[in-house]
Amino acid sequence: MNVAFQESKGSPRALDAIAEALLLPSGIDGIYARTAAFEDVVNALIALISRDREPGAEVLRFPPVMSRRQLEKSGYLKSFPHFLGCVCCLNGDEAQIRGAVDRFEAGEDWTPGLSAADLVLSPAACYPVYPLAASRGDVPPEGLQFDVASDCFRREPSKHLDRLQSFRMREYVRIGTPAQIDDFRRRWITRAQEIAAQLGLAWRVDHASDPFFGRGGKLMQVSQVEEALKFELLIPVRSAEEPTACMSFNNHRDHFGITWNLRLASGGVAHTGCVAFGIDRLALALFATHGIELPHWPTAVRKALGI
Ligand code: ATP
Ligand code: ZN
Ligand code: MG
Repeated sequence: MNVAFQESKGSPRALDAIAEALLLPSGIDGIYARTAAFEDVVNALIALISRDREPGAEVLRFPPVMSRRQLEKSGYLKSFPHFLGCVCCLNGDEAQIRGAVDRFEAGEDWTPGLSAADLVLSPAACYPVYPLAASRGDVPPEGLQFDVASDCFRREPSKHLDRLQSFRMREYVRIGTPAQIDDFRRRWITRAQEIAAQLGLAWRVDHASDPFFGRGGKLMQVSQVEEALKFELLIPVRSAEEPTACMSFNNHRDHFGITWNLRLASGGVAHTGCVAFGIDRLALALFATHGIELPHWPTAVRKALGI
C-alpha cells in the first residue's frame, strides 16, 4: 500500500489558546467538559460519517463499559494492560459497606473496601462486536459489516488536548474472508482522505503500530508495521512536526476469528478489520485548522458538515 501525503498549508493554531472555548478542565489530565461549540462539531462529524455507512452495515451503540471476561479473552491484558480501567465497587453486606464509608468520613483510605466488578471501561468500540457476531453462527458468504461506537477509556493521562483518558470512538467493522477485509480497508483508506480533504484538513496516511506493553511489545510493533496491519490518518493538531492519529485502519487477521470461533460458512476462520474514527481528535483538528469561530470557517467545510 502506498503511503499518501497531503502537504500542510501552515501550522495549526496553538491549542492552549482555543482550549478555553472548547474543553474545560476537570482537574484531572485528559478529562474535560465539552462546550456546546465543541459538541456541535462532534455531532456534525458523527452525521457526516453516518452518511458514508455502507449498505447492510448493522448499527450498534455500546455503553462505555463492557464485560471484563470478554476483554480478558480478547487478549487485552497481554497487549495493553497499562491502559485498562476496571470497574470497582463496594461489595459485601450493609455493615461492610458502612465500614468503608466510615473510613472515608474519618479521613482514612476507604478504597481497600473496593473489589473488581465483572465490568471494564471499553478501551475501543469494536471489542464487544466479535463475540456478538460469533453467537449468531457462521459468517455468510457476503461477510458482515457493523457500525459501532462507544465512549472509550485508556489510562494515558496527558496535558495534551489530543490525548484524552475518556474519548469517543466510532468504527466500521468488517468480518469475512481475508480478501473482503483487504477490500474494505483499501476503500476506507481512500474514502478517509476524501473526507479529510472535504473538511479542509491537511493529512498524511502512514504505517503505524500499537503501543504494546513491555519488552515483547517492541517486537510486536515491528511485525505490525512490517506486515502492514495498521495504518493511520495523521493530521497536524498539536503541531505539524508531530501530527495526531485521527483515524486508524486495522487488519486483525484471524485474531478475533480464532478467539471467538468466528467461522466462515464456506469453511475456515473469519478474518476481521476495522476503521476507527477518533471523534474528539477530529473535532479538535477542525478547530486547530479553522479556528474557534465557526462562522469564519470556509464555506465548503461548513457545507460538508451541515453547520
Ligand atoms: P495513538 O497512536 O495516538 O496513541 P492509537 O493508535 O492508540 O493512537 P487506536 O487504538 O487506533 O489509536 O484508536 C482509534 C482512534 O481513537 C485513533 O485513531 C484516535 O483518533 C482515537 N484515540 C486513540 N487514543 C486516543 C486518546 N488517548 N485520546 C483521544 N483519541 C484517541
Ligand atoms: Zn476496532
Ligand atoms: Mg494510543
